[in-house]
Amino acid sequence: MSLKNLNGVHIPHRKNTAGMQAVKMPPPATVTIPLSMHIGKPANCVVAVGDHVGVGQLIGEPGGFVSSPVYASVSGTVKKIVPMLQFMGATCQAVVIESDGQMTPADTVKAPEITDYDSFIRAVRDSGVVGLGGATFPTAVKLDVKDTSRIQEIIINGAECEGYITSDHRTMLDRTQDVVEGCGLLEKWLGVKKIVIAIEDNKPDCIARLREATRDDSCVEVRALPCMYPQGGEKVLIYHVTGKVMPEGKLPIDVGSVVMNVTSLAVLAAYCRTGMPLVEKCVTVDGSAIREPKNVIAPIGASCREVVEFAGGFSCEPKKMVLGGPMMGVAQYDLDAPVAKGTSAILVFNEKDARPVKPTACIRCGGCVDHCPMRLMPTEIERAYEKKDAEALRELKVGLCIECGCCAFHCPANRPLVQVNKLSKSFLRDYDNQMKAQKEAGK
Ligand code: SF4
Ligand code: SF4
Repeated sequence: MSLKNLNGVHIPHRKNTAGMQAVKMPPPATVTIPLSMHIGKPANCVVAVGDHVGVGQLIGEPGGFVSSPVYASVSGTVKKIVPMLQFMGATCQAVVIESDGQMTPADTVKAPEITDYDSFIRAVRDSGVVGLGGATFPTAVKLDVKDTSRIQEIIINGAECEGYITSDHRTMLDRTQDVVEGCGLLEKWLGVKKIVIAIEDNKPDCIARLREATRDDSCVEVRALPCMYPQGGEKVLIYHVTGKVMPEGKLPIDVGSVVMNVTSLAVLAAYCRTGMPLVEKCVTVDGSAIREPKNVIAPIGASCREVVEFAGGFSCEPKKMVLGGPMMGVAQYDLDAPVAKGTSAILVFNEKDARPVKPTACIRCGGCVDHCPMRLMPTEIERAYEKKDAEALRELKVGLCIECGCCAFHCPANRPLVQVNKLSKSFLRDYDNQMKAQKEAGK
């Protein structure tokens, strides 16, 4: 496989907000902060109703190794601790804080003392940083490799290949120094000799700015990558930057790579300097139903409704809201849903753009296969899923699907290929669990 023939698609960029500096919204009257905004165990609540909290005060401590702490994003009083239905269908606890409008930092906010690898990893964990591009994997777990000689390179993901979203773009321009400081931390405490900041070549301003800012650091290379979706997908990025192919079921570190989102790096650097953990998120607000598209820096827990209102409100009747980009984002039914750590965009569309498409019969053109970056066969997966054939799904390697949507984007018959792949993965997981349970029961 050469760089020239890696699959993917060219999507409309619609980076309408790339040239606008992100704007900070004022604190809303209340915030609703979910205690599960990351991959892994939810955080355990450590505050009670009636407690007064400051900005950056711990409200949820990590529930396990793969977990992340959660902090108050406004100062005020804890009003409620309630169960909350999240947009992916799971339920978690959420802490509702009534803001006093002061945004007073908590007494506990102070720069961490970092003296060695262990204290650095502790600081990464305490920062509350997770994959802020949307993956939400806790960064401390990713960097906690114990034997740092396993890291051949760290790739800083500034690809931001989805349509509309420009929040990482703004990080690279508005927080350049944080990105540079973050690279310094990785070099100092992990002993990394090679850091590649990978950026799609449709962001020449970011490439130029970061090349200039890192020109005296021989460990850092700013690499312009061809603009092709899903360039920012972890496996795709590792391949494009290093030529290494990640085997099925393996982690990036198994091939010597660590991938970190560029905004995660900037937030981590700011935490190490100031002690203020992750309490706000830069969110791209755009789409055909948004009056004034912009990047909004919102306190975590602010409702999508308030963020949209800050962006000038709706220009017409909204028909569909998507959290994330048009390719991998998830439709959301509740305007009052809170901004979480992984919310990179709130896209709202008018009736014309939200109209559902009607699938027709597959014409066997092979386009979905040709454009799949993982070289899967979505048509065969669809057929195996219809027959509920677990072994065929396994052979077709459905587990490798990164749910990028290239197949569906390219399908002239509008087949719901990604949805079927998601269902197939979950069917195979359930099937394997059932087989395991039967085996353990001696059936
Ligand atoms: S099969 Fe999966 S990985 Fe391949 S294009 Fe479709 S969604 Fe992307
Ligand atoms: S792209 Fe659509 S029509 Fe073409 S082979 Fe794939 S599923 Fe069939």
